[in-house]
Amino acid sequence: MNERAERYDPAVFEASWRARWEADELYRVDDDDPRNKHYLLTMYPYTSGDVHIGHWYAATGPDIVARMRRMQGLNVMFPMGFDSFGLPAENAAIDRGVHPATWTYANIDRMRTQFRTIGTAFDWTREVVTSDPEYYRWTQWLFVQFFRAGLAYRAMAPVDWCPKDQVVLAREQVEGANRVCWRCGTPVVKRDLEQWFFRTTQYADELLDFSQIDWPEPIRLMQTNWIGRSDGADIDFAVEADGQAPIRVFTTRPDTVFGATFMVLAPEHAAVAALTTDQRRAEVEAYVATARRETEIERMSAERDKNGVFIGAYAVNPMTSERIPIWIADYVLPGYGTGAIMGVPAHDERDYAFAVRYELPIRFVVAPRGGETDAGQAFLPHTDDEVLVGSGEFTGLSAAEGIAAITARLAERGQGGPSVSYKIRDWLVSRQRYWGAPIPIVYCEEHGAQPVPEDQLPVLLPRDVDFVPTGVSPLQSHPEFLAATCPVCGAAARRETDTMDTFVDSSWYFLRYCSPNEETRPWDPEVVSRWMPVDLYAGGAEHAVLHLMYSRFFTKALRDMGHLDFDEPFTALRNQGQILGADHQRMSKSRGNVANPDELVARYGTDTVRCFLMFIGPWDQGGPWNPTGIEGVHRFLGRAWSVATVQEGGSPRPRAIPGMPPAQSLAGEPPGVTRYLMTKKL
Ligand SMILES: [Zn+2]
Ligand SMILES: [Zn+2]
Repeated sequence: MNERAERYDPAVFEASWRARWEADELYRVDDDDPRNKHYLLTMYPYTSGDVHIGHWYAATGPDIVARMRRMQGLNVMFPMGFDSFGLPAENAAIDRGVHPATWTYANIDRMRTQFRTIGTAFDWTREVVTSDPEYYRWTQWLFVQFFRAGLAYRAMAPVDWCPKDQVVLAREQVEGANRVCWRCGTPVVKRDLEQWFFRTTQYADELLDFSQIDWPEPIRLMQTNWIGRSDGADIDFAVEADGQAPIRVFTTRPDTVFGATFMVLAPEHAAVAALTTDQRRAEVEAYVATARRETEIERMSAERDKNGVFIGAYAVNPMTSERIPIWIADYVLPGYGTGAIMGVPAHDERDYAFAVRYELPIRFVVAPRGGETDAGQAFLPHTDDEVLVGSGEFTGLSAAEGIAAITARLAERGQGGPSVSYKIRDWLVSRQRYWGAPIPIVYCEEHGAQPVPEDQLPVLLPRDVDFVPTGVSPLQSHPEFLAATCPVCGAAARRETDTMDTFVDSSWYFLRYCSPNEETRPWDPEVVSRWMPVDLYAGGAEHAVLHLMYSRFFTKALRDMGHLDFDEPFTALRNQGQILGADHQRMSKSRGNVANPDELVARYGTDTVRCFLMFIGPWDQGGPWNPTGIEGVHRFLGRAWSVATVQEGGSPRPRAIPGMPPAQSLAGEPPGVTRYLMTKKL
């Protein structure tokens, strides 16, 4: 009777099965289910438009794991939501002349439908959308908690600025040796602006500890390098100027202090103006102005000429008591260590080049045990087989002993001591753009920056704003938004107009999934404590020092504020590979090599496309997209389907397989091999 059912034709039954599973709430997970929990998370997508083959690939692997964990008897939470604030929405909206909200929510509708077509086992009842006031109310609440805990602060800082996007970038959003915007590839420039920061540096050491998590080595390495811890010593150099505090340097080589024959300050160092002598002032000021215009990478380049200017002042080497000249040079950066270095030309290549150029003394104070150093270049090796020479009472010690002894002596004399330096900087979270969560702060003449009282949250983002970028927040031209009252004295106050980096939104969305409908708090601590941490997190490796590091920071900070009772958000992490275009290049609209799965789905069905994606190769490796083999996968599924079903009087029934127990009866139900994989409680 039913001819079509003889043949594997997913178009006949996929949609009706999807409707049935949704009606049955097959994937809805209960917090109170007594079975062991398993929290499986795939990174929520940005609401950029279409669900493309990359999303399919990213979602299908974890979807298979979710099904397997269910079959193993676990209570699996597998939620999905949308990362919907941020620049791409705003830029697309500007290009199209529509409101960012209109563009974003239309995309969400389309993407949600597409994700349903894939047949993923997401629990949509837990969906979060970060641009919903019900969500960003709590993003703002979290900001207030960070502010109260001293982990959010405002400071004037030279910041990285993308001239194209007209926005400040976090350091993590500046990419590559030529320092380009992570989003549009435009070289960034420096600007001095008042900005909001989160104190990520306070957690630098804890973020280096990966002992509780099972994460891929490359991600751990990237975070380790990003945090960039170095152990060494602080050394204070007195200066020959009345009333001036000593200048502190950080060095990883305190064993070489006897070889320090000059000092170099970053041109931005706070002491430069006060120490510069009148004869040197014009030249120093010109040099400072030039250095400020250059990028860090230009300044750090190894090939670059090491040039600088003597400022006319002298410091005193605390070990030799010699007076040493103070220079400024752009190869010393204000943001690393203390922004001041001791120049040890005999044991540092840059200092060597500098000393040769300006005829500064070069004094060797470390040598191979029983060997000689070559006076024609810096001696750099830092091995166990070296001893201190020409270092007073420390001469003859091994380099390691020298480090310990000299550091201890400095500490005894109150001239420094052991110290640690990090490359990581605090996270810059304010953005001068419209489409984001407003920072919940008001400014009072008398009381300064005050957080908006929690019962007045959310600070709603007004709809009627001209959001075309000008470099200042578009909210500044909205008088009703600007007007506020001081929560301390009730006087008129001005509202903060910057919005938050979207990475703040994604630093806690996994917590909101646990209790998405809470109206009086961001989450139910008891439910969060039951579900968290995420057992397996799946997503792209490109977020190594962004989302993945920020989420760890958030978790640790919220733990210390008493809001969470665990240390890490994601116990295990796996990164999918990338699906490349047929030309083996990264898929992009500009290359025209983006594969759209919709046609294939219409022709072969969702299961075939999903299976085919998983047969490309190991999930963490990806590969080029070449759908020529899809017929084979389709035939394979067709065979599996015909084994599982047989037509008899219009009702599909399982066919007996020799040696196998009889399969579950499917009488009266639409046929489909996937039925076997979808049973809720096995
Ligand atoms: Zn940009
Ligand atoms: Zn006030």
